[in-house]
Amino acid sequence: MKCTVCKGSAVIDLPRHNANFCGEHLLEFCRRQVERAIDEFDMLCETDQVLIAVSGGKDSLALWDVLDHLGYRTHGLYVGLGIGDYSDTSGDFVRRFASQREGALTEVDLLAEHGYDIPAAAAHTRRSPCSACGLSKRHVFDRVALQGGFDALATGHNLDDEAAVLLGNVLRWQIEYLERQRPLLPARNGLPRKVKPLVRLTERETAAYCIVAGIEYQVEECPMAVGNRHLAYKETLNDIEVRSPGSKADFYLSFQRRAVGFFADAGTRGVRRWSSAMVAVPRAPQRSAPSADLSPTPVHQAPRHPR
Ligand code: SF4
Ligand SMILES: [Zn+2]
Repeated sequence: MKCTVCKGSAVIDLPRHNANFCGEHLLEFCRRQVERAIDEFDMLCETDQVLIAVSGGKDSLALWDVLDHLGYRTHGLYVGLGIGDYSDTSGDFVRRFASQREGALTEVDLLAEHGYDIPAAAAHTRRSPCSACGLSKRHVFDRVALQGGFDALATGHNLDDEAAVLLGNVLRWQIEYLERQRPLLPARNGLPRKVKPLVRLTERETAAYCIVAGIEYQVEECPMAVGNRHLAYKETLNDIEVRSPGSKADFYLSFQRRAVGFFADAGTRGVRRWSSAMVAVPRAPQRSAPSADLSPTPVHQAPRHPR
């Protein structure tokens, strides 16, 4: 198998691009894909201070490496989730990456700083671990981003992640989540933009990027991901991709280009319709105030790694 660019020995084939790449051209390809995503969705400016949520996995570390190569001012943020050995080794990978590159890194340990870890939070709130984890991470991300005055918060969600979430939301027509499923969420309430620069790269590509770039990362899956329905959606999309290369990227990117606008304000409109309908319906007596913690888990909040 030969590299499409230089005809040297290729290390990966990418059927959806009808191309094979050697190590050097794979790195170039991945960086260019990130650059294109940033440009197309207007995610970052050259002068931005970018806070990157890093988990120790391939995606977030690849993202940090690529953004450094593209010249952005980056700062890593690692949240210690307290998930046994998995968290211990994930933290080690992040620290090693940061120290090798002299990258700025902020660490927040949930147990030490907030008095709970993810297994305890999940048990206490009766949420799924991933739901409790997602909420906790978002809270920490927002706090650190606000305190540090960052312009953008970048996460390592890749094409597989985003296409799987999109499939889940479409299967249930969860329009209030579809409107927010964008790779760029604008700044609001003093919080920075939220961006996902890896949406043009699959997890196979980010794994290959790390291997070629010499980035060591956590290869174990989080033990709490068991039963995560997104894993099934990813498998389904991978089956389709094998039969029809390019379908996954088309599904997600065409949604962004052609359809996401249809769902603008869908959540608000839905709430308004719901409110009008409720005016005529007598309220059932409530025993206690409904707890936000017991609401169903929206698909877009469900388990993904904290990248
Ligand atoms: S799978 Fe990801 S989101 Fe779920 S608990 Fe583990 S780290 Fe958190
Ligand atoms: Zn090459």
